[in-house]
Amino acid sequence: MNVVDSEKIVSLLGQIGYHPVEMPDDASLILLNTCAVRDKAVRKAYGHLGRFKPLKDGDPNLIIGIGGCIAQQEGRELLEKFPYLDLVFGTHNIHRLPEMVRRVEDERVRCEETRFLDDKERLQQFPVRTGDSAVTRFVTVMQGCDNYCSYCVVPYVRGREISRPSGEILSEIRDLARIGVREITLIGQNVNSYGIKAEHELDFTGLLEKINALDGIERIRFTTSHPKDLSDSLIECFAKLEKLCWHLHLPVQSGSNSVLRAMNRGYTREHYLTLVRKLKQACPKIRLSSDVIVGFPGETDEDFEQTMSLLEEVRFAEIYSFIFSPRRGTTAAEMMDQTSAETKQSRFDRMLELQRNISENTWEQDVGTVCDVLIEGTSKQGQGQLFGRTTWNRIVNFTGPEKLIGQSVPVKIVRSYRNSQLGEVCRTS
Ligand code: SF4
Repeated sequence: MNVVDSEKIVSLLGQIGYHPVEMPDDASLILLNTCAVRDKAVRKAYGHLGRFKPLKDGDPNLIIGIGGCIAQQEGRELLEKFPYLDLVFGTHNIHRLPEMVRRVEDERVRCEETRFLDDKERLQQFPVRTGDSAVTRFVTVMQGCDNYCSYCVVPYVRGREISRPSGEILSEIRDLARIGVREITLIGQNVNSYGIKAEHELDFTGLLEKINALDGIERIRFTTSHPKDLSDSLIECFAKLEKLCWHLHLPVQSGSNSVLRAMNRGYTREHYLTLVRKLKQACPKIRLSSDVIVGFPGETDEDFEQTMSLLEEVRFAEIYSFIFSPRRGTTAAEMMDQTSAETKQSRFDRMLELQRNISENTWEQDVGTVCDVLIEGTSKQGQGQLFGRTTWNRIVNFTGPEKLIGQSVPVKIVRSYRNSQLGEVCRTS
């Protein structure tokens, strides 16, 4: 979501004459778009803010602002904490940035806007695309979350769940296809609950079916999904929609029912495993990724072993794992936590090692096979290499002419690394 918000910020500021530069030293306006989901991200954002102070000391006209989830959560307090900060804009106030920047420029005042919009206003503020082309793009279909997982700040900083009208989404995707976009990723905090609370609207399955029928779009992905809203009809889409990629990110968070209950996740381990079984039946080649939290308050050794056994059973292609960090204002922050930092770290290390083996094993299976790769651009590896992704969202680097960018080509995977694969183009016509 933050990537899409950042794109919108760049686009809005372009309208008042600001354009991106490479280095903070060259900027006349520095904006931090922040995430508050984990403590590490918050500390990182504050670290960045601290590093910008000498720049402001050297140039009092430099404007420094902060937006996103930290701004939404902390509001005016940030202006007190960081006296050199000029503006604070919340998650619902991005559209007001040009006006806020102008005020700081003209009146040298410090501004804060963190008011939540009502539904009608919010629907008018969904990110709207600019005309720049790319092979793959994100499209926001919903925002906010009503789930209140006990560890998560999202419902407090992003607001309640709201779905964008399907007509608008389809029209945006048609426009993207016209300018050369071939793959779209539908995004939202809880994307598969799209439409559930919107009257006279398609559900998420209906939306996927409509997108699948659009000319020009070759691949569809979506993230992030909640297991409790993964319906049988959505699972069936992996069998019947030819453009839907064979990859699903489905956060499980824990393999223990008592921890899942304390997290307020709304499903059990057994339900999650049933979903995995159905997904694999519908699409035998599907690969799953997930999020896992280690050391949630009250997590016992037995609970942790349940998570380990779930990882062994599901064999996720990737997981994003985190040691629990309490977020202010959430229920979990008030829970008794008797697990030592040492125990959490050792559980975390064991889990990483297990998952590293599973992931390596999964990606190794591709070596020697031919995969369709949608080529996105020139590779960071240099040396005339291009990069693209397989249906499983795995990056593949290979040598090839730039005229292939934007095309799907068969690529033989010759080596697998931790974060990418190396391939050879089979044919280029
Ligand atoms: S569903 Fe996701 S975004 Fe919503 S509260 Fe739970 S973790 Fe946070």
